[in-house]
Amino acid sequence: MADYLSSAFKDAGIESVETFELDVLLNYPSSPPTLKVSNPDGQVTFAATLSEDILPEDSTSDTPWRNTTFHGYAPSGSVSAPAVFANYGRPSDFDDLEAANISVEGKIVLVRYGQCFRGLKVMNAQNRGAVGVLVYSDPQDDGFEYGKCYPEGPWRSASSVQRGSVQFNSICAGDPMRADKRYEEMGESLTSLCGVKDYTSLIPSIPSIPISYGDAQPILSQLGGVAAEALGDDWVGALPITYTTGPSTSIVSMSTDNEFKVTSIPNVIGKIPGSLPASDDHPVLLGNHRDAWVFGAADPNSGTASLIEVAKGLGSLVQSGWQPKHTIYLLSWSGEEYGLLGSTGWAELNFDAISSASAYINVDTVVSGDELTASATPALTSLWEGVMADLDGHVLFKNGPSGNVLDANVNAPINADDAIGTLGSGSDYTVFLDHFGIASLDFEFNSPAGTYGVYHSIYDSFDWIDNYGGIDGEKGSSFELMASAAKMWGVLALRLADSDVLPFDHVKQAEALVKYSAAVDGNGLDLSELNSNIDAYMKAAQGVAEEMNSPGDLKDLNFRLSMTERSFLNADGLPGRSWMKHVLQAPGFYLGYAAMAFPGVQQAVDDGDLDLAQQQVAVVAECVDKAATFLKG
Ligand SMILES: [Zn+2]
Repeated sequence: MADYLSSAFKDAGIESVETFELDVLLNYPSSPPTLKVSNPDGQVTFAATLSEDILPEDSTSDTPWRNTTFHGYAPSGSVSAPAVFANYGRPSDFDDLEAANISVEGKIVLVRYGQCFRGLKVMNAQNRGAVGVLVYSDPQDDGFEYGKCYPEGPWRSASSVQRGSVQFNSICAGDPMRADKRYEEMGESLTSLCGVKDYTSLIPSIPSIPISYGDAQPILSQLGGVAAEALGDDWVGALPITYTTGPSTSIVSMSTDNEFKVTSIPNVIGKIPGSLPASDDHPVLLGNHRDAWVFGAADPNSGTASLIEVAKGLGSLVQSGWQPKHTIYLLSWSGEEYGLLGSTGWAELNFDAISSASAYINVDTVVSGDELTASATPALTSLWEGVMADLDGHVLFKNGPSGNVLDANVNAPINADDAIGTLGSGSDYTVFLDHFGIASLDFEFNSPAGTYGVYHSIYDSFDWIDNYGGIDGEKGSSFELMASAAKMWGVLALRLADSDVLPFDHVKQAEALVKYSAAVDGNGLDLSELNSNIDAYMKAAQGVAEEMNSPGDLKDLNFRLSMTERSFLNADGLPGRSWMKHVLQAPGFYLGYAAMAFPGVQQAVDDGDLDLAQQQVAVVAECVDKAATFLKG
């Protein structure tokens, strides 16, 4: 695949293409996992299949991979214990169980997918003393609750399993060992970069297995204990059973046999050098991952198809004699699924290439449905809106009552009445934004459910994306959406690489800060200094907006526009996670994926530590002050 991408870039006319090999820790099953239930007398009453069905309608489903249902970074282990149902495995779910006097200590915890990153479900269970974790896909979250199941429709069928990594992704991204020799040569280590003793802090010590609802239902239906409904309205899924908490009187036995080894992964780095001297160059980075859980037609091949189209577009401009002002990087990552390994390793080991970068534009799964959504650093939202306005009528697009591309959802809102949101984690922008303070943007066409029904299963296949991945399930339309995504991505890249004045809008960013501040207000915190610094940043942003209309020294202006984002980094990082340095947003500590604004402040408020929250307010205030001063010049 790396060779394929490398050739595709070269064939497209990109002259500089290199492969960047990185040594990382990975695990693969030496033998398939096992799962069974026994009654108190020791008789086996249920043995899970842990296998996805061969479907005649899906031409690639007859694959040996249908039997390798495992979690990335789950250790080997064999445990037998009563089972407890812990809903989504969030801290609040474990609190609900505790309040009902149900302990998960020494138990196997059964949780469902959704609401938070799977690795953090395992982390939360492990922190509460569980000995093993089963993570199943409830049909309420991506199955028949939404519509017909594959192959009759797009949604998750009874044997379908969501594989995936169980790394603790909210602490830091990247190889949990930092095994590559170049780290040592640089004088860096996992401890110096991430503030943890060793890799055992970043991956689980208890075994876990992803399972289908076909395998989960017989276990769930005999747990006994309290009615799950009594613990909260959202404790009941869509299976035709009475959900109960356990602990079961039956014994669940599970085993995993996963081999860990340091393996080399290839990243493909294409580069179009800019015409400006190095001192004026603000490279734009375009990235997408290439590795997949089995076939990955949507995740990530839909995005990879778009990346190749962008390469063809830019390559043909280059071949016609054009050169961008700023350098453009085309980045095809490996190891994303285990924990953003390729992107994080390349960025950490190639800081010279990115130290003056203006922006990182990420595309992961770019088509798994027909609703366009984007998330961005607030300073890039005007760029996005401008590109969408100019492409209206030139891209295939569905959502929005007027059919106007501007009706697309820009940014996942932090709360219902907040229009500007933030990037969380779960894709390759994380190292660029959260660790290095490079403005980032990510977009995709997905389903309103926010996920899709064959995610990380063998059915994320050509047949699925051809039949169900596009507009209203119209056969073949997903490929039109991939072409549209390539146009959007290419034009975003050109505006960043070839404008005289870099398209940053710090007024939008200042407005976002006003909202973030309002969101943490009312917790007994003194926000006066923070708010007055936000005012100063707003004034600087308004000044620079004027300056952009009649620019004097372009070099100085572009430096301030693009590098102000670095001011929002705090060298010490967030409390308890020093690798996450950006004070404006981060993935939630216990939830992953979803974003938290002013994360140092918000997490401390959530944990009830107001002294720490106030201290973190001061940290944010100082960063905002730095940003205002820097932006003014
Ligand atoms: Zn992906």
